[in-house]
Amino acid sequence: MFDWDSIRTETIRLLQDLIRINTTNPPGNEIQIALYIQEFLQREGIGCTIHEAAPGRANLVARLPGIGNGKPLIVLSHLDVVPANSGQWRFDPFEGAVAEDYLWGRGALDMKGMLAMELMALVLLKRSGMMPPREIMLVAVADEEAGGNLGMGWLIEQDIPGLKEAEYVINEGGFGGIREGIPLFSCQCGEKGVLWVKLTVPGTPGHASMPARDNAIIKMVQIIQRIMRLKRPMILCETSRAYLKELAYLKGLNLESQIALDYSLQLFATRHLKDERSIQAMLYHTISPTILQAGLKANVLPEACELTLDCRLLPGETPGHFLAEIQKSVNDSAVQYEILQAADPTESSSDTQLFKTMGRILQQEVPQAVLVPFLSPIATDSRFFRYRSITAYGLMPVIISEAELQRLHGIDERLSLPNLERGTRIMYEILRQLE
Ligand SMILES: [Zn+2]
Repeated sequence: MFDWDSIRTETIRLLQDLIRINTTNPPGNEIQIALYIQEFLQREGIGCTIHEAAPGRANLVARLPGIGNGKPLIVLSHLDVVPANSGQWRFDPFEGAVAEDYLWGRGALDMKGMLAMELMALVLLKRSGMMPPREIMLVAVADEEAGGNLGMGWLIEQDIPGLKEAEYVINEGGFGGIREGIPLFSCQCGEKGVLWVKLTVPGTPGHASMPARDNAIIKMVQIIQRIMRLKRPMILCETSRAYLKELAYLKGLNLESQIALDYSLQLFATRHLKDERSIQAMLYHTISPTILQAGLKANVLPEACELTLDCRLLPGETPGHFLAEIQKSVNDSAVQYEILQAADPTESSSDTQLFKTMGRILQQEVPQAVLVPFLSPIATDSRFFRYRSITAYGLMPVIISEAELQRLHGIDERLSLPNLERGTRIMYEILRQLE
């Protein structure tokens, strides 16, 4: 029905244009790219609105009506990118160079590449003249890379028709990779919660030649040891259980019918996946000391010692409860606690029509493909929807290696042209087929 050769060329040009509009955050200044997208969609007869959270911080919403009564499907993306130091890059990060079958530039993976797929999929649906089974909303927001307060966090509080009534969201957060020789697509179904907390231990300042008993540095070292001894057993949530089950199956271990399934999965994770940090992070509450500060001069006793912890929490836990656990293990009334950031974990069930549809379409487009739920230690804009009980999945429909993933937020970020083309087709099929 479509001439995919010309669509390929069109999509490449679109992504080049999106990359060339510099939306480095800070300052973001997403209004330029939003206006570009608005014009692009209007040319195709698709209406859209722009909502500024602050001058220049633009969020865009486009809608394509559907025939059924189903609640809207949202395809989500963010317009901003992280900074890039062009001196270190092979091609200018904002030139959108095409070379060696790749499109190079800041945002190619995170996430203007997926934005281009979403835009093209929407436009193709419109051109086909076919009304999709349910309403599609394309939402492209500002400020994701700085926490989303002027982006999705702000937009969801506004009175945007359809936004809060949506049933499903497709966003960034997961990718396809090759695992045991099989194309495994990790669909981000949940995100760990966050607790950043600063602990302060007081000490008595004085001449260091005459030590006091309450040296703040010594006390803090003991506190760190107590915190790191906090019992944190392996915990399986719905998402990580499904992920481990699939991985065990791919490795030839069929644990499906076993009694004590969780125990078998835990054993499997301990034996076979010990060194895979991203998988281990799905199974434990984590605590990482990240900043330690004390003292001003070699011969002066410190008046305080400060420690910052970055804790990531599995579904079922809350920042408040976890902090109480830390306080219990520290067991020292002189210690002060300051919460720097706190967010609850989120999880969407994978037992949905959208998950099944995505899995089926991936299999059609990529032989042997498997779609598997995945829990991410890092937050995306999906949390704003999951807090409202809207199912949100993170999946960029591309197959990339670990090495390519390192370029995301790094140097020489790029997306292969076959991935761009296939990803556009997969996205189009999802929008067309989801009942
Ligand atoms: Zn991103």
